[in-house]
Amino acid sequence: MIYILADDIGYTDWGCYGAAKIKTPALDQLASEGVRFANAYAPASTSSPSRFALLTGEYAWRKNVGILPADAPLSIDVQKNTLPKTMKQLGYTTGIVGKWHLGLGSPNEPVDFNKPIQMGPLAVGFDYCYYFPATNDRVPCVYIENEKVVGLEADDPITVSYTKELEGSITGRKHPELLKLHPHLGHNHSIVNGISRIGWMTGGTKALWKDEDMAENLLDKAREFVCENKDKPFFLYYATHNAHEPRVPSDAFRGKSEAGIYGDVIEEFDYCVGELVKCLKKEGLYENTIIIVTSDNAPMIKEGYKDGALENINGHNPYGVMRGEKYSLHEGGNKVPFICVWPSRIQHPFVQEQPFIYLDMLATLPSLIGKPIDVAQCNDSKDGSKLFFEENAPLYRNYIVTQNNGGDISIRMGRWKYLPATKCSGAELYDLDNDPSELHNVVYAYPEVAYKLKKLAAKVKQ
Ligand code: CA
Repeated sequence: MIYILADDIGYTDWGCYGAAKIKTPALDQLASEGVRFANAYAPASTSSPSRFALLTGEYAWRKNVGILPADAPLSIDVQKNTLPKTMKQLGYTTGIVGKWHLGLGSPNEPVDFNKPIQMGPLAVGFDYCYYFPATNDRVPCVYIENEKVVGLEADDPITVSYTKELEGSITGRKHPELLKLHPHLGHNHSIVNGISRIGWMTGGTKALWKDEDMAENLLDKAREFVCENKDKPFFLYYATHNAHEPRVPSDAFRGKSEAGIYGDVIEEFDYCVGELVKCLKKEGLYENTIIIVTSDNAPMIKEGYKDGALENINGHNPYGVMRGEKYSLHEGGNKVPFICVWPSRIQHPFVQEQPFIYLDMLATLPSLIGKPIDVAQCNDSKDGSKLFFEENAPLYRNYIVTQNNGGDISIRMGRWKYLPATKCSGAELYDLDNDPSELHNVVYAYPEVAYKLKKLAAKVKQ
């Protein structure tokens, strides 16, 4: 079983979802062999809360999880059930390769990157991990394999800070002449590989990653995990850095797409998915492996760096007709591409129109393999497994709740989408059947619907 989670890839960024200027043959092939969800939601419109909900089956606002620095304490309660723990209990060897972004260490014992790190993926149910701590635009720019930073030398220890500039750190703010990619907003602290990041770090020189090699490096580790565990059930969470900023593909993909650098990193992502599928086929595992591919949230085309993505996107649109982008509670923020193949069980390809949210993987994955777990172990997660097999499956939950980075929520119930009032804005209600772009707030036209959803939102957030 492989759960592939892209970073900041939008609903219409793959050919099978309508992209014309970005070529994604591997993903399109998968979609043509399995189920493609037309209404799948990421639990949040930013990284950490979306990933938290995926791995715990719990709404992230309950724990106030927003975008985390690398040295934030582990956000997942090690006493509670998680997706990797569940898969482990069901006999699967569990591994994560790629992005973590859920905190490390504990409040009493903050992470020290020079010492063995237990309070991270290993503490929440992963048997194996090869990961980078936060995001590819945040320090420290190193990989951690199991407990240790890869390539770290004892006489060059790593120091990390997100609160103050470290003595000896070379920053983009002071040394723009050293940059190959210039910051747009923030992102002007320590320079690694010619790119300034969020946060300061010193040391660990031999351990620093090279962005150009990142996709191939993570792909290699994903393949290694598959090959090493091919004789037994495995669960691989492969969380790529594509297409998050800084967008730095390998030379083979730079300039390859017709949608500029934005398209290039998505084509590189497609390549990685294709190579992993090839590996499964070579090992004879493809027929009986569940592969899910999706994204943690929508993109923001121009965000941290002046990489020319927006200027060169050439008419490509990652959001389809939807309003909103990363950080938003509107559909464009967290409706994501989501496909699943499992050749031995999903034999007829189809498009699933029913709404699905991958908060529900904790309850859904065990059910998919015929081993449902007790609802007491599912937290907020519900079993949506029927949607993976039946084109006309009934609704498995009455409403879908998503959140933004701050923990504000939206509720989708049938055709209605409701955004409760916040400190900054009044309540919003949209009729998605007639207004998929959420242009016309009908909260006053349908007061009874608005009232019902307002009450529901308050109940959900209790
Ligand atoms: Ca993301």
